[in-house]
Amino acid sequence: MNSMMHMPLLISALATHAERYHADAEVISVDIAGEIRRSNWGTVMGHARQLASALERRGLTLGDRCATLAWNNRRHLEIYFGVSGAGLVCHTLNPRLSPQQMTYIINDAKDRVLFVDRTFLPLVVALRDQLTSLKSIVLMGPHDAEAASQIEGLLFYDDLIAEGDTNYIWPEFDETTPSSLCYTSGTTGNPKGVLYTHRSTVLHSLGGNQPDTLGISASDTVMPVVPMFHVNAWGVPYVAAMTGCKLVLPGPKLDGESLARLIDAEEVSLALGVPTIWMGLLTGLEATGSKAESLKRTVVGGAALPPSMISAFRDLYGVELIHAWGMTETSPLGSVNQLLRKHSQLDEHAREEIRFGQGRPPFGVELRLVDEQGHVLPNDGKTQGELQIRGHWIVEQYFGQDESALTVDGWFDTGDIATLDPNGYVGIRDRSKDIIKSGGEWISTVELENIAIAHPGVANAAAIAARHEKWTERPVLIVQRAIRSQVTEAEILAIYAGKIPNWQVPDKVIFIETLPLGSTGKVLKTKLREEFGDVLMGQPS
Ligand code: ADP
Repeated sequence: MNSMMHMPLLISALATHAERYHADAEVISVDIAGEIRRSNWGTVMGHARQLASALERRGLTLGDRCATLAWNNRRHLEIYFGVSGAGLVCHTLNPRLSPQQMTYIINDAKDRVLFVDRTFLPLVVALRDQLTSLKSIVLMGPHDAEAASQIEGLLFYDDLIAEGDTNYIWPEFDETTPSSLCYTSGTTGNPKGVLYTHRSTVLHSLGGNQPDTLGISASDTVMPVVPMFHVNAWGVPYVAAMTGCKLVLPGPKLDGESLARLIDAEEVSLALGVPTIWMGLLTGLEATGSKAESLKRTVVGGAALPPSMISAFRDLYGVELIHAWGMTETSPLGSVNQLLRKHSQLDEHAREEIRFGQGRPPFGVELRLVDEQGHVLPNDGKTQGELQIRGHWIVEQYFGQDESALTVDGWFDTGDIATLDPNGYVGIRDRSKDIIKSGGEWISTVELENIAIAHPGVANAAAIAARHEKWTERPVLIVQRAIRSQVTEAEILAIYAGKIPNWQVPDKVIFIETLPLGSTGKVLKTKLREEFGDVLMGQPS
């Protein structure tokens, strides 16, 4: 009864499509020195095939891991497709991890090859002796005698490409073959590896790029500011190859002014990144006087998007901020915020309220809430519970671990506390490890932060649970003042009046120079809790 073709869902099919149908669409890359380099999909995918061929000739076989330690740039993009396309696993390393974590991860993954941008060469030199599984280190650039003197046997990316067969044809294999590996950023524990497959990646690209999800088209110019080492830049490189949009890879300089200039120079229409990046861009736009005229949309995720940022971008620059939620374990897209047809009848305020949330799941993933005993809770938009997810691009088992990462009935517990409404709109209240449990009631740190960040004197804020003799935990707000701001504790506490119940208002505001950020640009609340977790102890209740 067979009726239709079966073609495996392979990443190489995206490469072939790009090379065949939009070879001349541009791929722009900012190199380490800050120079803008121009290429196109045809060249990128040609190089990807040459790289695949060179790696095969050097003896790498199906499933071998090739790590990258690199910025968002053209060579990194070629490695994404060349490595996975050959049936090898592209393991993106986060350079902001500590040297100990980095060593642990490379050895845990048993990486055979390490591709490295010049910036990170000193790090690799320092760690070299501890990286036991590595057979080759490849500098991502042309031959460089000075670098060659630092690491014995160092290879050079451009030489490797030249070695490769320009007529190489992508191999076919099962679509459930692993394609890439990414470790969780370890904000709340030890990094764990998530091994994506060709099938999960292609389905994530299709499901994640519907009109109501990322909605990237061939007429867009897309800039993933989210690093290629952070959950595959949210899958944007694959979606970009699929659509043939112009792609802008911003390299190492991610400060607001550099981004503002790049947006204008390359006419970026859609950019993607974590909230801290867009806070920087707001300042950068002001400093450069840019109006970001080409920019229409930015997708913001990875941490809660402060509502005040939505209005700042819309009112000042006409840019729509699209809020999305996800995690390493979910490839990452779990929900994206777009409105439904019926929402057009709501007033502006009600529509705005919906846009503050994290949106709803695309086809391909399902969400549910459970209580502490695992009972499923109602989707009424009010009841809070543990958010669980399942779908085609959700982790089943962490890399190298024997036991399943799922509940007995096959769902993945995200560790987030959320609400869900009848249309599947998610409201992330907090991480279960961050939420403040005050006298048996929950206080959302995200809500406290959003209110504080709306104050013009506040550059950034983080709420944490501080230990308390009577209430177990009480909220304390840590604030980084805006430049030249003199805002006081009393002024900040006053803005909570009428916005949340009185008992949820922080007990204390502490000002610090800069909030500690983790390897993916998120505030490190664990560090703040270590430092300030006891500030309320011994105080009258
Ligand atoms: P880590 O857990 O190590 O930080 P991830 O990058 O996978 O690594 O982070 C996923 C977590 O980030 C989610 O579980 C959630 O708590 C948080 N997160 C992601 N997107 C959002 C969002 N839009 N709003 C609030 N929290 C978010």
